[in-house]
Amino acid sequence: MARIVMKFGGTSMAGIERVRSVAERVRAERARGSEVAVVVSAMAGETDRLVQFCREASPLYDPREYDVVVASGEQVTSGLLAIALQAMGVPARSWLGWQLPIRTDDAHAAARIEGVDAAVLERAFASGEVAVIPGFQGVDAGGRIATLGRGGSDTSAVAIAAAVRAERCDIYTDVDGVYTTDPRIVPRARKLRAVTYEEMLELASVGAKVLQTRSVGLAMKERVRVQVLSSFGDGSGTMVVGEDELEEGVERQVITGVAYDKNEAKITLTDVPDRPGAVAGIFAPLAEASINVDMIVQNVAHDTGSTDVTFTVPASDLARSLDALGRNQEAIGYARLVHDTRVCKVSVVGVGMRSHAGVASTMFSALAQRGINILAIATSEIKVSVLIDEDFTELAVRVLHTAYGLDAEAA
Ligand code: ADP
Ligand code: ASP
Ligand code: MG
Repeated sequence: MARIVMKFGGTSMAGIERVRSVAERVRAERARGSEVAVVVSAMAGETDRLVQFCREASPLYDPREYDVVVASGEQVTSGLLAIALQAMGVPARSWLGWQLPIRTDDAHAAARIEGVDAAVLERAFASGEVAVIPGFQGVDAGGRIATLGRGGSDTSAVAIAAAVRAERCDIYTDVDGVYTTDPRIVPRARKLRAVTYEEMLELASVGAKVLQTRSVGLAMKERVRVQVLSSFGDGSGTMVVGEDELEEGVERQVITGVAYDKNEAKITLTDVPDRPGAVAGIFAPLAEASINVDMIVQNVAHDTGSTDVTFTVPASDLARSLDALGRNQEAIGYARLVHDTRVCKVSVVGVGMRSHAGVASTMFSALAQRGINILAIATSEIKVSVLIDEDFTELAVRVLHTAYGLDAEAA
């Protein structure tokens, strides 16, 4: 008997009609003879609303209390789906993160799953009951509720699929697969039949939010078969596969996809003393506050023996970053602290980059031709990212999609 984990995202759960249609899909999967566990997101927009409440209550909110607030959206949808399933005659029960439990570390608001207890799920499978699990939440060693970072329900689903050794983890969302770029901003984006774990990991980490980065990392480690498909239509989606599973003979482009991320904030410290240890002095307080720094640019030293240092942090960590740096102004010795949230990181990703030169240069010239200025650059083995003015996001993504030959033929 196939064992399947089905995960439904926010748009798929937005309102009772949609919850019913999700219940219908679950019923159909079960009717095909599968053992099913379901992971749900909060209704679309709900988590944003809850996050905003926390920010309004205090910009420097306690992440433990933030978790109490933002985890509530999934509690609502898991209960509603269980009710909708029961109403159809399908035995169903919801299990909150602490009830299974899904154990996490204590990095509140960005917690990592340490383990999933599969006992409840195994009992549910054995009795023919559908277990409905709220995504995005778990419980830390101290018994406090913890959330997994935005988009974290994907990771909940993969962790559960790994724990029960599911045949597949189906991620139902509002697009019918993984595309060469966000199909909402580039109508000519092409659907990928398959994408490798590694490329998906990189695409997700630079903003292709169709899967949360950690979910892909976990799927790769645990070899969970992940499929992305639409909860609004039928038809096949995109399989995330190992490089060895890619079809032979299919012509691969050098670049697999283009992604963008508007959730970065740029910080510049001016007139930092140009001496050993100065940069370490900037990043240590940020590391202590568990803030991930992404792109970094250090300008050439001024004649005065000082330099400007620019870097990006997640926009959601901006207030805490400015606070940490402000408190350390004297120790670091900078003159001014400047920030900008109207920036966007645009990235191109592809394993083909390993064997092809000129990928970055194509990117820089394509952007230059459209007069798009580059504020920072970062590269990895299979990725090139640039930071640009947010206003140029759509244009940059389209231009790069065309420049790398990714546009679908016009219908
Ligand atoms: P869910 O609520 O189902 O988790 P998300 O909003 O988190 O859905 O992710 C789906 C969205 O990801 C799509 O609506 C699409 O706009 C966006 N997206 C970004 N990049 C891609 C891509 N390369 N392929 C498909 N969707 C993408
Ligand atoms: N509801 C959470 C969010 O919006 C988790 C998720 O949807 O995956 O980030
Ligand atoms: Mg999502």
